[in-house]
Amino acid sequence: MDDNDINNLERRCPRLGSRISFRYCLISGEDDNPCWKIFDCWWEYFDVESYLKANLPAEVFEQLVEKAAAQPKNKLASIVEIAEQAKKEKTNK
Ligand code: SF4
Repeated sequence: MDDNDINNLERRCPRLGSRISFRYCLISGEDDNPCWKIFDCWWEYFDVESYLKANLPAEVFEQLVEKAAAQPKNKLASIVEIAEQAKKEKTNK
């Protein structure tokens, strides 16, 4: 998928409740930086982490990662983490 296709991807925004394009997510955070939910909202559509790492200034990317990590985990992330932990424990027995 090229950058133009990525920028035109659309999904329903959980914060706004309407369909928006990825392009909007890139500038809808503080100081026109990406929204802190961008990893959570887009990981199922494409490799958003690699895309942002390659296209954002390193400092902006790091701030975004820190901000996303500081937010309470959503239910799916918590379930995946618990499942991975259980798998590791089973393997170590
Ligand atoms: S990243 Fe932010 S603006 Fe974009 S869909 Fe998710 S919550 Fe909405």
